[in-house]
Amino acid sequence: MLRHSGNVFVLSAPSGTGKSTLARQLVKQVGDLNFSVSFTTRQPRAGEVHGRDYFFVDDATFDDMVARDGFVEWVRVYERRYGTGKAWIQEKLESGVDILLDIESQGARRVHQAIPDAVMVFLLPPSSRELAARLRGRGDESEEQVRIRLEYAKHELVQYEGYDYLVVNDTVEQAYRRLESIITATRCRRERMGATARQILDSF
Ligand code: ADP
Ligand code: 5GP
Repeated sequence: MLRHSGNVFVLSAPSGTGKSTLARQLVKQVGDLNFSVSFTTRQPRAGEVHGRDYFFVDDATFDDMVARDGFVEWVRVYERRYGTGKAWIQEKLESGVDILLDIESQGARRVHQAIPDAVMVFLLPPSSRELAARLRGRGDESEEQVRIRLEYAKHELVQYEGYDYLVVNDTVEQAYRRLESIITATRCRRERMGATARQILDSF
C-alpha cells in the first residue's frame, strides 16, 4: 500500500471521451493539482508534448522499466503499452500534493488496490455514436484504430461500478464544473481538514 497525505484522483474513460481535454483544463485551472505523466510506446499526436502529455519511449526503454520494477502499473491496450512511473508518484505522494491520473480501467483498479482512498472518477461519453464522432473528429487515428478503440470502449464502460463518481462529458463546460466540484468536495472532507480545524480551534 502506498502511504500519502495528498489526494489522489483517478480519471478513467474510453479513449476519445474527452479525458485529456478535461484533465489539461483541470491542471491549468484548479490550483495545486499535479498531472501524472504516463509512459507510452505509442507515437505522439499533433500538439502532444514529451514530458507534458506523455513520456514517449521505445519498446526497449519500456522493457527496461518493467524489468527494473519502475511502474506502479502498466497495461497493453490498443496494441501499445502505457504505464504509470513509480518514482514520480512516490515523490509526489510523500510531498503531500494532490495528483491526477488519466488511466484506463485495468490500471485504475491496480492503483485503487495500492491506494485504497484514491478518488475514482469515471467519465462517460453521451452515447456510442458521439464517441465514434469524437474519435474520428480527432483525425489522427486510422479507421482500424477507431474500430479497436470503439470495441474496447464497451469493455471499459462496464467497469463503471468500481468508481466513486460518474460524470457524463456532454459539454466540456458542464463536465468540467462537475469534475471541479468533485475535487473541491474531496478537499473539504473532514479527515482532510482536521489539522486546519484544530488550528482554528487553538486560536480561541
Ligand atoms: P481522450 O483523452 O479521452 O482520449 P480527448 O480529450 O483527446 O479524449 O478528446 C477526443 C476528441 O473529442 C477531441 O477532438 C476533443 O476536442 C473532443 N471533445 C472532448 N470533449 C468534448 C465534448 N464535450 N464535446 C465535443 N467534443 C469533445
Ligand atoms: P491515448 O492513446 O488515447 O492517449 O490513451 C489510451 C488509453 O490509455 C486511455 O484510456 C488512457 O487513459 C490510458 N492510459 C494513459 N496512460 C496510462 C497509464 O499510465 N496506465 C494505464 N493503465 N492507462 C493509461
